[in-house]
Amino acid sequence: MKITRLETFVIGDGPEIDPDQGGIEPMACLRIHTDEGLTGLAEVFRVPPGVVQATVGGPQSHFGKLLLGREITHPEQLWQHVWDALIHTNRRGWQVIILGALDVALWDLYGQMLNQPVWRLLGGVQRGPFQSSAETSTTHVVPYCTLVSDVWGGEPMFRQQVARAETLAGLGYRAFKIEPMMSSPRDVVELARRFRKTLGSAPTLMVDVGYLFHDLPTAERVARELAEFDIYFFETPFAVDSPEPYAKLAAKCDIPLAMGEHGVTRWEFLDMMDRGGVTVVQPYMTTCGGLTEAKRIVELARARGAVVCPGNWSTQILGAASVHLAAYSPITPFIEFAPAEVFASPLRLELQRNGFPVENGQIAIPDRPGIGYVLPDEIVQRYAMA
Ligand SMILES: [Mg+2]
Repeated sequence: MKITRLETFVIGDGPEIDPDQGGIEPMACLRIHTDEGLTGLAEVFRVPPGVVQATVGGPQSHFGKLLLGREITHPEQLWQHVWDALIHTNRRGWQVIILGALDVALWDLYGQMLNQPVWRLLGGVQRGPFQSSAETSTTHVVPYCTLVSDVWGGEPMFRQQVARAETLAGLGYRAFKIEPMMSSPRDVVELARRFRKTLGSAPTLMVDVGYLFHDLPTAERVARELAEFDIYFFETPFAVDSPEPYAKLAAKCDIPLAMGEHGVTRWEFLDMMDRGGVTVVQPYMTTCGGLTEAKRIVELARARGAVVCPGNWSTQILGAASVHLAAYSPITPFIEFAPAEVFASPLRLELQRNGFPVENGQIAIPDRPGIGYVLPDEIVQRYAMA
């Protein structure tokens, strides 16, 4: 089976839906076509669509030169072929994110070609009972809901994020990440307090402050005060390019530190773990360099006693790839999930409805061949962006 065409298209909610309220900004997707009619799908989060369209296309395009006409073989082999060819261009940034999306689409194709779900080809289910509940840990994956608000700081933020958590808990979700971004240290702690006061002690709670702090003493004080609210991880207290403050905070803080949403390649994840003392790494299945690279990150994390919780503040096209990684990974108790039920985005909702269903706060490990996300043409046409 050979690659015959690299197709790109752009979808989004359109200008009348506010991205700050969960709307999806124009986002490129790609499909790899083959001479046997099978296609592989991926989205390309946080790369300007024009960059994707300019580099993924015909036989003279940047990635077209490397992939068109190639035989579909193990995705790791194709990944290495592309990576080796890019050694003199740019081994980070957009180039790796696009390689990652192509890799996810290749896994989708490879699974369909072998008539197997991708998780089985990644290594089969290696999950254990510690990952969620003992009864379902080998059959289900647990999403945690990320709760952003339209406003930051103070009462309006507390009310909106806690209300969204209540709505989602009522729908059966069992893990939540509050996001007191652009807020004072006092507000960070207060939001955690309000969450526990309203939702009780049962749900898993994570805190993401979105690179809020510039000094160690403030972050340390906040982490110490948060500890009484049973926080599963504390995400991105500092800017990401210097691991030293992470390492110093990790040495003093009882809450595991998390980062990695923008990490590209296993090398950046090694840095986070070995120099930053981070024990929860959060690769996006495309951004990090694809499922091929994510699997390597799982292996590196396992050897260091860290866990891998795939990040995804995007759609369930990307989320489907996270489910396959989590189904395989022995160290993935949760995957991130942007719940369409509480955000004003018609496209997010439609893409979630077409994805793997969440029932009783869990996603059953899928058995369709490939990644198994079916994107109807009708949705592509209705939400097409120029
Ligand atoms: Mg984050």
